Amino acid sequence: MSTEKKVRVRFAPSPTGYLHVGGARSALFNFLFARRMGGDFLLRIEDTDRTRFVEDALTEIYDSLKWLGLNWDEGPAVGGGYGPYVQSERLDIYGRMADQLIGSGHAYRCFCTSERLAEVRAEQEKSGGATGYDKRCRNLSAEEVDKNLKEGVPHVVRLKIPEGRTVAFEDLIRGRIEYKSEALDDLVLIKADKFPTYHMANVVDDHEMAITHVLRGDEWIASTPRHVLLYEAFGWEPPAFAHLPVILSPDGGKLSKRKGAASVMDYKRGGILPEALFNFLALLGWAPGDDREKMSLEETIAAFSLEHVSPKAAVLDEKKLEWMNGQYLAERKAETLIDDVVSMWKDKGWINDGIDNEYAIKVIDMLKVRSRRVTDLADSASYFFIDPVDYEEKAAKKHFGPEAVERLGLITKIIEGIDDFTHTNIDAAYHNTAESQNIQLSALIHPTRLAISGVSAGPGLFEMMEVIGKDVVLKRIDKAVKWINR
Ligand code: GLU
Repeated sequence: MSTEKKVRVRFAPSPTGYLHVGGARSALFNFLFARRMGGDFLLRIEDTDRTRFVEDALTEIYDSLKWLGLNWDEGPAVGGGYGPYVQSERLDIYGRMADQLIGSGHAYRCFCTSERLAEVRAEQEKSGGATGYDKRCRNLSAEEVDKNLKEGVPHVVRLKIPEGRTVAFEDLIRGRIEYKSEALDDLVLIKADKFPTYHMANVVDDHEMAITHVLRGDEWIASTPRHVLLYEAFGWEPPAFAHLPVILSPDGGKLSKRKGAASVMDYKRGGILPEALFNFLALLGWAPGDDREKMSLEETIAAFSLEHVSPKAAVLDEKKLEWMNGQYLAERKAETLIDDVVSMWKDKGWINDGIDNEYAIKVIDMLKVRSRRVTDLADSASYFFIDPVDYEEKAAKKHFGPEAVERLGLITKIIEGIDDFTHTNIDAAYHNTAESQNIQLSALIHPTRLAISGVSAGPGLFEMMEVIGKDVVLKRIDKAVKWINR
């Protein structure tokens, strides 16, 4: 491949389901490679398998890519000079290309019925040999073919796999990979319904769209020798290939729905930020070559190279994702979270329509530095809106014993004595009382926190009290006393 060619890569999902981590990682590596090399990142929709088409998958794929910031330079919605970018709109191209291969003797029409193919297979299985098409239609005479065509006998188009060849390609991540051509079947290029197979459409489009590098998951390795032979049959130069390592679930098994194979939108709903998922996915098989983990988009692009993609399986570590998300969450400006978080609070029923923005920002600022997921900002925030309905059992045993009534009485006095209810004033008042009464500060702090929030852990108590306000704080302490005396 000539070095001055502009790098062009593509993400080519089939709309058979939502965008999961594996697909998102492929899209992301293509995106990073394009950005690093100053190339183009294309999106192409491979929708020729109509039996597996899922109606709303397309919209969700687009939304997921956009949410992650993987904006494509060419493709559906944005256009480009090599369209259309949806394969079902390119059927005539594949038909023409198949005719070309038949004309040059590299492909042939096969009229075998599915019954016959099943019989052949059953025979092969019985004799314990390799299974595969027995190539019967390779040698049909021109007259036989014509007669069948005239009679409208359904047929497929197959590639003639050359015999006795070693098919090799240089994988940019794994090195040289070889296959014996005997191991490859005369694969179908055009199906009886005139739709192309994945192999045909994929190769034709990669060529037609001037793709220079194919970066895809390693489940496609076995397809690559077939593609190499197809490029050869066309007389085209194949692109470079790089197969990305498999992603395993934390227990080492295959990713499955139950074990971590969540969709991008599931992560969003689970309170993961796009920049955190981006960073996390980038490290699934790639590393910058030093010990950096949390990296900005710009840093990741600058450091990205295929040399640092490992062929070894990558393990999806949710704990690491949560840790990373917590880091990004702490850095986020509260204003950027407010819409999502407020709607979660509404869903919980803690607020009705309106909320004072300033109040919401204070609450978010307080909680985001100690949360891992955006959803934590809702799950642990009830006491900023409603009185505790219950008290954490273990903490109540410790801090709400009979003697606590007197302690809470003292606390009420302290609070009543604070005119300007700021955290610095509250802080000073608590310290003064602890000193003058010769009691531990914690003996004041723990019961107060439990009375106000119902739980034993949370953000800085005095800041929290300031935000919640003096009246509510006093009311809740009174409620706690009644609860103890109940
Ligand atoms: N349509 C294939 C998929 O769904 C594309 C594989 C490739 O990148 O060649 O993953």
